[in-house]
Amino acid sequence: MKFFIGNWKMFGVPKSINILHKINFFISKDKNRNKYRAIITPPYTLIESYSKYFRRKKIIIGSQNCYKKDPFSSNTAAVSPYMIRKVGATYTIIGHSDNRAEGDSNTDLKSKVELALKNKLKIIYCIGENKTQKINKKTFTVLKNQIVKVLNRKLKSNNIIIAYEPIWSIGTGKIPNNKDLLKTAIFIKKVVKKVFGKTLPVIYGGSVDENNVKMFKEIKEIDGFLIGGASKSAKKFIDIIKNYYR
Ligand code: PEP
Repeated sequence: MKFFIGNWKMFGVPKSINILHKINFFISKDKNRNKYRAIITPPYTLIESYSKYFRRKKIIIGSQNCYKKDPFSSNTAAVSPYMIRKVGATYTIIGHSDNRAEGDSNTDLKSKVELALKNKLKIIYCIGENKTQKINKKTFTVLKNQIVKVLNRKLKSNNIIIAYEPIWSIGTGKIPNNKDLLKTAIFIKKVVKKVFGKTLPVIYGGSVDENNVKMFKEIKEIDGFLIGGASKSAKKFIDIIKNYYR
C-alpha cells in the first residue's frame, strides 16, 4: 500500500473543499485506486466539515499536529488529540519540522504520539535533517535520535507511518538524489525494525511534484509521499498519483 498525503499547512477555507471533490472524483475512477491511500491534512478549522463529507469517500482526513495534553486543559489555542479524533480525523502528523522549529521537543513529541494513539489516531511521524547536519554528515545520527527518543516498542506500531522530510528540501525545489534517498530509506527501516521488531511504512516528503515523482518510482523502499505545496492544487495532486503509476 502506498500513501499520498497532502499537508495543506496554513491554507484553506470552507470552499477549498472543491479541491478535494476533484481529487475524490479522480480516485473513484482510477484503476490503481486499491494500490494507495490518499490522505489530506487541512487546518484544524476544516477537519470537522471535511471529515463529515468524505467519511464514505476516497479521501481520508487528518490533522497537521495535535497538542501534548489530553483531553482538555487550560492552554489557549491548543487542540488535543481527543478533540481532533472527536471531529472525525483519522490521522495526525506529528513532529513536522515547522513544529519542531517552533519548540516541539522529543518529550513533547513522545506525549503527542502516545495520546494520539490512545485516541485511535494513526500517526505520520516526521523526521529529517537540516542542511548543516547533512553537510556535516550527521544525517543518520539525527534520524536515529528522532526515532529512538520518541518511538518505542510499547506503541501500537500498526498505526505509525514514518515521513522522512529533509528540512533543506521542504519548499525549496531541491530533492535528494536517488542513491542517497535509497540509503536513507534503508537506514530508517533498519532503525525502525530495531525499535519495533518489524518495519513500518516510510514515506518521503520535500518538494515532491508532478514532474519529479517519477524519479522516486525506482525506490521501492519509499512507501509514498508527504506533499506540501503541490497538494493545494487538485491538478498537481492528481498528476502526482497519475505519473507515479504511469
Ligand atoms: C511539507 O511541508 O511537509 C512539505 C513536504 O512541503 P513541500 O512539498 O512544499 O516541500
